[in-house]
Amino acid sequence: EPPYDSIVVAWRARVASSPNTVALRYFDGTLTADQLDRASDALAVAFASRGTARGDRVGVYLQNIPQYAITLLALWKLGAIAVPLNPMYRRRELRRLVDDAGAVGIICADNDIEETAQTLARGTVRWIISTSPLDFQSRNDPRVTKSVRRVAPATQGDVAELIREFEGQRPDDVKLSRDDVALITYTSGTTGPPKGAMNTHGNVLAVSTTFSDWAQVASGDVVLAVAPLFHITGAVINAVLSLTSDTTLVFTGRFHPEVVLEAFAEFGVTYTIGSITAFNAIAELPQASAAHFASVRNLYSGGAPVPPATVERFRERFGVYVHNAYGLTETTSGVIAVPPGAAAPVHTISGTLSIGVPLPNVVARILDPDGVPVSPGLQGELELSGPQVISGYWNNSEASRLALPDGRLLTGDVAIMDERGWVYVVDRIKDQINVSGFKVWPREVEDALYEHPAVHEAAVVGQHDDYRGETVVAFVSLKSGASATAAELIAFTRQRLAAYKSPRTVHIVESLPKTQTGKILRRELRDSTIVSLENPSKGV
Ligand code: ATP
Repeated sequence: EPPYDSIVVAWRARVASSPNTVALRYFDGTLTADQLDRASDALAVAFASRGTARGDRVGVYLQNIPQYAITLLALWKLGAIAVPLNPMYRRRELRRLVDDAGAVGIICADNDIEETAQTLARGTVRWIISTSPLDFQSRNDPRVTKSVRRVAPATQGDVAELIREFEGQRPDDVKLSRDDVALITYTSGTTGPPKGAMNTHGNVLAVSTTFSDWAQVASGDVVLAVAPLFHITGAVINAVLSLTSDTTLVFTGRFHPEVVLEAFAEFGVTYTIGSITAFNAIAELPQASAAHFASVRNLYSGGAPVPPATVERFRERFGVYVHNAYGLTETTSGVIAVPPGAAAPVHTISGTLSIGVPLPNVVARILDPDGVPVSPGLQGELELSGPQVISGYWNNSEASRLALPDGRLLTGDVAIMDERGWVYVVDRIKDQINVSGFKVWPREVEDALYEHPAVHEAAVVGQHDDYRGETVVAFVSLKSGASATAAELIAFTRQRLAAYKSPRTVHIVESLPKTQTGKILRRELRDSTIVSLENPSKGV
């Protein structure tokens, strides 16, 4: 059980014990814990002055910049609920989430202001507050100015100005319990329309404190915000984990592989979690070397399957082991993970890398279709329960009933648990391919493709076939400068897999469609009309 009832109390304990350590860093701009506490107090008063109160939802439409952390703390101090909004979302997508959440306010970066203001012209939104990615650090830093386009803000305030205006003021104390909602996070939508998971203060602390212990995060550590904060992983096991421990949280703005790579070395990063896509992008950089990762103790990859070949390559080139971590929006991020120091044997079952073992307090069971637990080594649906698991979706009791019967979460993932308690995610139930009655898990085929040295990313889907029901189709992007033909890749998988599992068609494409968190959208590929680079005349 986490020792605190709310993130605010955990944060205050940290401020009291080490007020002068750097809590936030953004290139050459820093805020100590005490400064961050005061800034978030002032911002909380500003939000309250606009009528924001306990239980209100506020959209946070920002990249990974320090204002994100200041905003979260300010909202939580009021007992308000943060609704992370993916900054890549445009009008329609925003409108849907903001309406669903019934948000009363929005914080956005001033380059998004036009988009946001137009989107929110109607509905529940009473205020929009803007902020500039250029605040809180040197305005001349080319690493930051790179992606900024200034638009005159037409809003009810600016974060930096409001912090100055309300400096020295504190919001009234709000006594929160573990059951108060801290975040409404919308699932990324790889399998359907977005649903707002209600992550409580208790859920968030249950994950951040256990994950911090698991990853051996210690006082004085430096945590790099690689995963975006609009995703539950970035918010909980980078941001809250760092804020509630005596560590420094480093922001680098919008994800640029070169900037993130340099940040590892420049700021002496010791721990982070990001997506495998992010680490792949970094590994692709010709200048990347072991020296960049010299201070790293524990590197985690979460949110999507990790091909074993990628882990091997990372270890060979940089001497760093990428630990696998598994979680869902509904489990408030990572709940099953590879223990640190487990680097020596890479646990796999038929080519699938283990996601590790359940963290303390997480109850993982593998169930057959009747809901009965199966024996170790057998496949079934992964079910999770514990203080990390949400008790429902916002405004959607039907979805809550389906996903959370008896308060236990049915993940929709097929998994195996071995005799020692290590878990292997075979694939998502819905993605299974049925070839003439033979069942194929796309991930196994993808892992085989990743073993080919020219393959950058791979996605495998089933497509309708009159004769076989479905056939296996692969979409592959190649590493820059590398070459391989579709025929060669098919032959390569044939040496590794049963004939019915090998793709009948391979499309070599420029890039694969992904969610903003780097998850490949198989669903889009299934119905796609993507044209292969190799044979551009032939659409799919
Ligand atoms: P939606 O629920 O709308 O489909 P989503 O499931 O992609 O969106 P998340 O909650 O971010 O949204 O993703 C959770 C899913 O991601 C898990 O159910 C699992 O399929 C996959 N996943 C997460 N971590 C891992 C991992 N380490 N290995 C394999 N799969 C993973």
